[in-house]
Amino acid sequence: VSPRRRLVAGNWKMNGSFAHLGAYMDALVQRLTGAEAACDVMICPPHPLVSLAVTATEACAERCQPIAVAGQDCHGQDQGAHTGDVAAGLLAELGAKAVIVGHSERRTDHGEDDATVAAKAAAAHRAGLTAIVCVGEALAVREAGDHEATVCAQLAASLPDGATPANTVVAYEPIWAIGTGRVAEVGDIAPMHQALRRTLEARLGAGAAALRLLYGGSVKPGNAAEIAAVDGVDGLLVGGASLKADDFDAILDAY
Ligand code: PEP
Repeated sequence: VSPRRRLVAGNWKMNGSFAHLGAYMDALVQRLTGAEAACDVMICPPHPLVSLAVTATEACAERCQPIAVAGQDCHGQDQGAHTGDVAAGLLAELGAKAVIVGHSERRTDHGEDDATVAAKAAAAHRAGLTAIVCVGEALAVREAGDHEATVCAQLAASLPDGATPANTVVAYEPIWAIGTGRVAEVGDIAPMHQALRRTLEARLGAGAAALRLLYGGSVKPGNAAEIAAVDGVDGLLVGGASLKADDFDAILDAY
């Protein structure tokens, strides 16, 4: 059993609304009140909803375990002329505790490379946020058998100096399993997590042992328990299935 406290984070991507957030938080709080999940719980709504989500989580703080709120991206610089981008410091000011960086949809849609991701993670750290650094291979890379070398190199180049278990979480998300319904097999996940753990050790030394390594990619209520039980998986980053509170609740039950 992993010594690390598990984390289940829901990435809403570009979905949600004020009304959806209100109903969702009510359902999540009801689920967690008096029945604490055996993991840390985090939601990552679109940026315009971060403040509202923080307010909702604060309102229930006395009744239920903390529900952390995270952004889905931030800029690599602290402020400046970057129209449409979001500063990590502003997310922190709104009450976010973390921010996803390097999600494959950002890497693909916005051409973000590892150096950009590392700069974003460093900006998150400067702002006092936990950076959730995402890595993962395309299907062609896996079919060519290059996945471990590719993803480990991606991780090494996406981690900024100063990354620690306290300020960084890593999420392995094979691109071919994100939003596709195609789930990685236990036999795909476990060796990759072992390889990523070795990369973390090479980079961070003994401190790497406490850094959480999540899996993400088509996690659903029906497969969450099996994936959560994979050796070396310290939690789940859930996309589509995190949008319905009932499904997210069921996934929390994996721990
Ligand atoms: C994600 O967005 O990080 C993700 C894993 O998506 P999905 O669960 O929908 O595959």
